[in-house]
Amino acid sequence: MIVNRKKLNFLERLYVPAVIGGFKITIRHFFKKKVTMQYPEEKWVVPEGYRGAPYLVKDQQGRTKCVSCQLCEFVCPPKAIQITPPGPGGLPEAGNVEKGPREFEINMLRCIFCGLCQEVCPEEAIFLMKDYSLNGKSREELIHNKEKLLAMGGVHNDKIQKWKTKADEARQQGL
Ligand code: SF4
Ligand code: SF4
Repeated sequence: MIVNRKKLNFLERLYVPAVIGGFKITIRHFFKKKVTMQYPEEKWVVPEGYRGAPYLVKDQQGRTKCVSCQLCEFVCPPKAIQITPPGPGGLPEAGNVEKGPREFEINMLRCIFCGLCQEVCPEEAIFLMKDYSLNGKSREELIHNKEKLLAMGGVHNDKIQKWKTKADEARQQGL
């Protein structure tokens, strides 16, 4: 099929009106409110409830809240979570829980930020934070281990402190 092109008139062949039209659009946008962001110097302020990267949290006493129940590992659609339970005897450093995880990994290359791990966790030990900027120089860097997840998650101030003992209460009151 042959497409017949429209013949250009004299003015169109000069291209000057088209160039002037382009300049007019550029000048109009030049004086409009700036919409571009100078990332990464400027960061996006994420709204409440934003689902960023999932991290593990500690309680007010700085203790790991996860009890290695593995529900999050089971429910995670892309199988991004891998938990190694502590085995017989538990972990000595997880004094508050019998089954603090020996290892806990989240593969951020697989995570789809669905939030199911947070929904299902009975201990409120894993939360999707506001972190949207994940980068690394290798694939291994984006597999976050337990230490990294706990460091990024920080402390979560629980209303109900399930593991609070009388000794904790006395320490808080300075007795
Ligand atoms: S947010 Fe979704 S995909 Fe990511 S670790 Fe949790 S359950 Fe898995
Ligand atoms: S993060 Fe929550 S759901 Fe996942 S293993 Fe730990 S306690 Fe269970």
